[in-house]
Amino acid sequence: MRRVALPSPVNVPASALLGVRWPAVPAAAGATALAIQFQLQQYQWWSADALRAHQLTQLAELLRHARATAPFWAKRLEDRDFDLRAPLTWDRFERLPLLTRRDLQDHEGDLRCRRVPDGHGPVFSTSTSGSTGQPVTVHKTEVANVFWRAITLREHLWHQRDLGAKLAMIRYVRDANAARPPRGARQDGWGPSTDWAYRTGPASLLAIRSDVKAQAKWLQRENPTYLLSYPSNLLLLARHFQRGDKPVPPSLRQIRTMSETLTPDTRRFCEEVFGVPIVDIYSTQEVGYVALQCPDHLGYHVQSETVIVEVLDDDGRPCRPGTVGRVVVTPLHNYAMPLIRYQVGDFAEVGEPCPCGRGLPVLKRILGRVRNMLTFPDGRRNWPVFADDQFVTIAPIRQYQFVQKTRERIEVRFVADRVVTPEEEDRFRALINGRLGYDFDLVFTYHPSIPRDVSGKFEDFKSEVEPLS
Ligand SMILES: [Zn+2]
Repeated sequence: MRRVALPSPVNVPASALLGVRWPAVPAAAGATALAIQFQLQQYQWWSADALRAHQLTQLAELLRHARATAPFWAKRLEDRDFDLRAPLTWDRFERLPLLTRRDLQDHEGDLRCRRVPDGHGPVFSTSTSGSTGQPVTVHKTEVANVFWRAITLREHLWHQRDLGAKLAMIRYVRDANAARPPRGARQDGWGPSTDWAYRTGPASLLAIRSDVKAQAKWLQRENPTYLLSYPSNLLLLARHFQRGDKPVPPSLRQIRTMSETLTPDTRRFCEEVFGVPIVDIYSTQEVGYVALQCPDHLGYHVQSETVIVEVLDDDGRPCRPGTVGRVVVTPLHNYAMPLIRYQVGDFAEVGEPCPCGRGLPVLKRILGRVRNMLTFPDGRRNWPVFADDQFVTIAPIRQYQFVQKTRERIEVRFVADRVVTPEEEDRFRALINGRLGYDFDLVFTYHPSIPRDVSGKFEDFKSEVEPLS
């Protein structure tokens, strides 16, 4: 392992972050990340009870900070007469009301902390519509970012990847003109999560909006060892390789999926076609990593060092192993906009403790977003990107869903706070078609709410042309 001296974007002793009284470490980002990694390696083997006790200490800190600095939490905790001087118990915590996406939409300003502790670094924001097509904006600190990177590295280490090998990524790229086929984009290393400590191999990137045929050609030329993409895109690629006469890239050793629900059928089919295992990741943009696939089993281990995950039934009670409930999370390190008992919008099945021996709780499967692929009139297909992060700049859109009716026409279903004017619809048309890259006939319809399908999945883009799932 090669240690790299990096400039220090954050000045946070790891001891403060995980609440453990370790000797202070040098403030360089690399050293901090190394210390966190060391701690994570220890924590994973703690018992479930010990991890929970530790979380409770972190949680009390977070609640105190939230109450003192964020008007929303000051009011909510005061309204409930929540005494933070009394010892915090799980029972008390679990009586706090859930925080909904609607709360985030309505109270973004008041959910933000008026001050962030020294050393938590600058604050940045991210917008996402998550699993249910409901756009929200979340503010995070650099420390939350440090943990994002630490868990990224943990995931690589868990799955024993050869960090010197080549990584290919087919994923969302914000700049519509970047990483396009046929070449895509190249970078020297895998990214900041790994590169501070390891001499990683080359990485190449292709924008997810690329047509699947172009993706397949690119993959063959790049011939990576590892591939990262989204399940629905991977399924389409697998079908393409299965039908075509070109072999899958021969160097491919493993595929990583993220951002959508990976169904057992998709996993099975893609593993068969590509001839390599898939490792799935459960993360959300608002929260960060929620759970990672166990290195030895198919279940997902909750990343308890950074997030509290509850899975609740319809009555708000914790689900038992084998039952499915709504996922409620509390990220432990975001001191810019604490999300306490935040209902992400996904559902999950609780798993039994993992035979691997890690004390990190288990989710057996996740029911989140499922997305169909967009079909263009000329038959090209890709994973659609809609610019949903900008919808609220045009009109107060609470939720959306797109349904492709024909190769030319797409129904845009909106839940809106008020009537959307024809002029605003024109602006939506320009924005959405600009992102999709074609002048589709967009038909707007308005609804009081947009439910999940009967299986509990939410499809933010459905296709009645050639649905995949
Ligand atoms: Zn395990």
